Formats: sequence, C-alpha cells, structure tokens
Amino acid sequence: MATVQAAVFLGVVLFGTCLFGIYTRPLDFLANVWPANAVMLGLLLRFPKTATPLGWLAAAIGFIVADLVTGSALGKALLLTGANLAGVGGAYAVLRRYFREAIRLQTPESVPQLIAAIGFGACLAGFVGAIAHPVLFDGSAVGGWTFWFVTEFANYVAILPIILTARPISFPRGFSLKRLAYLALPALCLVLSCFASFQIGGPGALAFPVPALLWAAIVYPRFVTVLLTSAFSFWSLTAHSANLFEQVADHSAEGALISMRLGVSLIALAPLMLASAMAKQKNLIAQLSHLARHDPLSHLLNRRAFGEEAQKLARYCAKQNHPYSALMLDIDHFKSINDRFGHATGDQVISIAAAKISACLRSGDILGRVGGEEFAIVIPKCTREQALEVAERIRRAFANTHVTPEDEVSISVTVSVGLASSDDGSANVEALLEEADKALYRAKDLGRNRSEFHD
Ligand code: GH3
Ligand code: MG
Ligand code: MG
Repeated sequence: MATVQAAVFLGVVLFGTCLFGIYTRPLDFLANVWPANAVMLGLLLRFPKTATPLGWLAAAIGFIVADLVTGSALGKALLLTGANLAGVGGAYAVLRRYFREAIRLQTPESVPQLIAAIGFGACLAGFVGAIAHPVLFDGSAVGGWTFWFVTEFANYVAILPIILTARPISFPRGFSLKRLAYLALPALCLVLSCFASFQIGGPGALAFPVPALLWAAIVYPRFVTVLLTSAFSFWSLTAHSANLFEQVADHSAEGALISMRLGVSLIALAPLMLASAMAKQKNLIAQLSHLARHDPLSHLLNRRAFGEEAQKLARYCAKQNHPYSALMLDIDHFKSINDRFGHATGDQVISIAAAKISACLRSGDILGRVGGEEFAIVIPKCTREQALEVAERIRRAFANTHVTPEDEVSISVTVSVGLASSDDGSANVEALLEEADKALYRAKDLGRNRSEFHD
C-alpha cells in the first residue's frame, strides 16, 4: 500500500509541477522554468519509496495528462514525456550507481559529481530534443539538442539542491544588533546586487550577485544558501529572459537565451560548491571538538571539559540561589583488577563503570572522567540529602555489577563516593570538588564501598 501511495503522490506532484511549467512557457519556446524533471529526480532520490516501477508509471501519467489537459496532441505529449523521463532516468541512474554520497551535498566532491549526473541526464533529454525540435518547433536538430540540454541543466541546478538539502531551518537564539547585521547583510547584498544587475544591464550584469552568493554560502547553513541561490537562479532566468524578449521578440533570441541560462547555472554552482565544502569543514570541526572534550575510553567529558561545564553550572546555580552538589567517585582496589585480569579487562571495567554511573544521572547533571578510575559529578538543584541518594543509587548499581572477561571469571566491582553540597549555590565549584575529594579519602579510610561527606 505504501508503494501505491508513494506512486500516487509522485504522479500528483508531477502533474501539478508540469502545469506550473506549461503556464510559464513564454511564446512557443520551451518552458522557461520547467521544475517537473528536477522535482521528480529529487523525490526519487530523497524518498526511495517513490522509486518503483509503479512510481515511474504514475510519473509518466502525470506528465502526459498535464500535457493533454493543456491542449497538446497525444503524439507531442508522448514525445515530451519521453524526453523528460529519459533525462530523469539518466541522472538518477548515475547518482544511485556511482555517486550516492553526492546526494547529500555534504562534501566538496558532491557538486562536480552532481554536475556529471545532471549533465548526463540533460544530454539524454537533449537527444529527444534533437528529434522534437524539428518536428514540433520547426528548428534544427543541433539547435534542439543544445536548447534542450541547457534548459534541462539550468532547471536541475536551480531546483534539485532545494529538494536534496531541505530540512527545518533553526533560527538562532539570542538577539543582538551585531548578530542581526551579520545574518542579514549577505541576503541584503544579494537583493541589492540582483536589483543593480537588472537596472544596469549589459554583458557583465549576470555576475553582479556572485560575491553576495559566496558570502551567503559562508555565513548561512547549507539549506538557506541553496534557497537563496535558487531564488537568484529563478529571478535571473525570468528577469533576464524578459529583458531579452523585449530586445528581440523572435527566435533569434535563442542563442542569447542559451548563453544566459548556462551562465546563471554556472554561477549558481559556485555557492553550492562552497556550501558543500563548508558543510564538510563544519562536520570535521564538530568531530574534532568532540574528540578534544571527551575521553575515548569512557566517552565521558575529560578533565578539562568537565571543569569548564562544572564552572558554567555552578555560575547558573549561584545566580538562581539553587543548591548544588559535587560527588567524587573512585573504583575500589582497581590496581588489583589490573594485576589479576590484565590492563584490557581493567579498561573494560572503566567503560562499564562509566555507563553505570551515567545511567544513574539525569540529563542536566555533569559527569566526567577526571583520572584513571576516578569520576566526578556536579548535580544542579541538589541538596545534601538528594546527593546522598544519588551516591547510594550509584553504589548499589555497582554492587550488582559483575564484569565477565573472556576467561569467564567474574569480577565484582565496588566504588567509594565522596560528597560535598552547597545549600544556596554560593560555593566555588573547585572548592566543592576538593571537599568531595577529601570526603572520598574518608570513605576509603572507613573501609571502601561507601558514601561519605567531609566533616
Ligand atoms: P583504592 O581502592 O585505594 O582506590 O585502590 P586502587 O587500586 O584503585 O588504587 P589507585 O586509585 O591508586 O589505583 C588506580 C590504578 O588505576 C593505577 C593505574 O595503574 C590504573 N589505571 C589508571 N588509568 C587506567 C586506565 O586507563 N586503564 C587501566 N586498565 N588502568 C588504569
Ligand atoms: Mg584512584
Ligand atoms: Mg581506586
């Protein structure tokens, strides 16, 4: 059923987009903006459920019916649909088979790969155009191929990235004039340069928006850049076409139209390329900063990151007059675990211990691995009594833990906990952690596997 629904969805969407394309057809030229093929390719790639034989059939019906209801003869409708499906099929096959990664537009290589795929699709559509042009529009075969290829290519570049990168846009929190200017200026410059390009005109006009587009690619998330770039493409394709038709209102405008469409598409590829490269860069930076802040064995915050987060939390508690507590934990007789079962098993114990402790905490609590088998916790809105409850919960969780190494020997693991609390949140977090550390020594002195305050 899901397949049928997906196919119907594809057919209906394409019928709608075809009508849109047909009604924007200037004079008897091919449609200026023909979104249907790029929309179909995008949906097939992003929603694989639509990419079934039934989906293709529904798409073909959508194309043909749209042509028929707008007055085309059946022969023309079939020929045009053949061209459209050949182009989409070609680009789809290349992307699915050779460039799967490019679909996500998240690496610098994705844009050249995308160009190769849609170039191939546009090429195939061009061959059908070479037949269609002489038959339907009284032109030459080469002219038909070129015109069809360029129009297909321009439409893919303008529309496909929107569907491939679409996601909810999260608006930045916190307002400052400087931040607003930082975010608004690239878009504002784009609007101004598009306006100037239309007003001033001439051979250089098309390039006016390039710096603003590249600026946008650096400042905005990928999807926003893609939206702005597509807006630029549509605007240029329509505004400059209108200009061209005003100058030469017959078929001699065709050469200029081809050049303009190609120019707009190639300009639009530049911000796409930059946005994809930026996406990879941002991902790498996020990975690096995760590595710099986390311990690779336990995946907990490392000592430095824990210190930073604890400071932040303590400042918040002091401001709100919330009580907060610090806990220091140390696995008991860990050296003997290493000695008896080996270092690798010791590592395994540390990693299991980290997971056990994490499971006893809430999401706002801060936990770090601050030493070999030592962990520290800071808990906001937590009184002395509540802290003791948490410590006991963790200790009990350990009491039931048995790590079974490969030689099937069970190791029983216990932990000692030192606690310190600040009733009104005013205590310095470093001092509180030091106090908890002293309490930990006390717990060790009093026999281990217990929770103690420093008194
Ligand atoms: P106590 O109950 O007094 O805490 O006894 P203990 O044996 O745990 O004593 P101590 O805290 O001094 O020993 C910690 C040992 O942990 C020493 C060190 O060899 C070992 N260790 C530190 N880091 C790691 C690690 O990453 N992996 C493993 N396997 N061992 C570690
Ligand atoms: Mg220790
Ligand atoms: Mg220890």
